[in-house]
Amino acid sequence: MVMKFGGSSVADPEKVRHVAARFVDARRRGLKVVGTVSAMGKTTDQLLALASDVSPTPHPRELDMLLSTGERIACALVAMAIHDLGEEAISFTGSQAGIITDAAYTRAKIREIRADRVLKALDAGKIVLVAGFQGFSRDTMDVTTLGRGGTDATAVALAAALGAACEIYSDVPGVFTADPRIVPDARKLPIVSYEEMLEMSASGAKVLMLRSVELARNHGVRVHARSTFSDEEGTWIQEGDDMEHPIVSAVTHSETDVVFTLTGIPDRPGVAARIFDAVAGAQVNVDTIIQNVVHGKAEMSFSVPNEDVPATRAALVGTQEELGSFDVEENHDLGKVSLIGAGMRSHPGVAAKMFRTLAGLGINLQMISTSPIKISCMIARTEIPDAVRALHGAFELEREPIAE
Ligand code: ADP
Ligand code: ASP
Ligand code: MG
Repeated sequence: MVMKFGGSSVADPEKVRHVAARFVDARRRGLKVVGTVSAMGKTTDQLLALASDVSPTPHPRELDMLLSTGERIACALVAMAIHDLGEEAISFTGSQAGIITDAAYTRAKIREIRADRVLKALDAGKIVLVAGFQGFSRDTMDVTTLGRGGTDATAVALAAALGAACEIYSDVPGVFTADPRIVPDARKLPIVSYEEMLEMSASGAKVLMLRSVELARNHGVRVHARSTFSDEEGTWIQEGDDMEHPIVSAVTHSETDVVFTLTGIPDRPGVAARIFDAVAGAQVNVDTIIQNVVHGKAEMSFSVPNEDVPATRAALVGTQEELGSFDVEENHDLGKVSLIGAGMRSHPGVAAKMFRTLAGLGINLQMISTSPIKISCMIARTEIPDAVRALHGAFELEREPIAE
């Protein structure tokens, strides 16, 4: 069994001991236990702030050296607490645990796990703790980190490599119809399909990192997202079945996107390709894209995650030189609210109802994008909480769906 605990679950010494007790409990139930934990509390944020106090553009390799320490601290502390409870434990860094990644600092992807050392320790009866959110690149022989929330990916990849069950413990007891911090009557979902969870994570539900859901789907790992602080059944993320799906399952939101608007771009074939090649070459994940042609010139807007803003800026400077100058504006005041539901595919009218609900609050829609099972609107960031609550109410997500 792979058990993952997030940062808030190991935020202080008492919580570290509590998590240690949960590992010991699982071990004493006869399970072979691999644990992975995140850095304590807000450690990663603090380390990032420290780095930017020292350097305006921290060197990516050194940033990974710095950030990877947070998870190592938490792991070693949990291992100590397990020893005190009378069980054997051993903590490993990502590299000691054989987690091999590509060479992309701060956003590395796990390529394979060479689990020999983990398996040996398990065979010796030990509880094995693996530092989350990190690995090792054999190309550069360097430590890498997996991107924010990356311990979820560590957990799923370990479960896939070991053929183990995967439990992800956090401060919420599962995946809800909306962020329970914003919508107090949000409902815990018993099952979410990989497909829906991918859309939820991609649109801001940070309860599971997007990459971890991709890994789970690709390797057929069933993930149980549940509470650190109770034994209640959580949410199962697994293959969807063929039963009727609710039209809308959840509302998600994100307040960390930045919208770039480019104006005065030459209107000819290949220009968008050139711009997005450059952006992709900087490893930026672009979300919503809109293009229009006004008076023979193209105008383009697209959103990127906050942390990708410097890379996007740099990529655009290169294309400006090549394509002839165009104007670039950044908007940091927008956020995104999305409706997710596999049943949307076969039910018209969801978008209209979403727009009507937002119009009822006097909210202006800046950008709209859709997939077969998702509709997203970019709106003023300050209006996100009200929009999420209104949509949750309008689609009656607090109620159990009634089978059709
Ligand atoms: P951890 O530190 O354990 O990895 P995170 O903070 O990354 O936990 O993710 C858990 C948080 O995700 C919750 O505290 C909650 O506010 C937020 N969240 C956002 N959307 C949802 C959702 N739909 N269901 C559950 N939690 C959500
Ligand atoms: N500590 C890292 C972060 O805050 C990884 C994680 O929590 O999973 O993003
Ligand atoms: Mg997380």
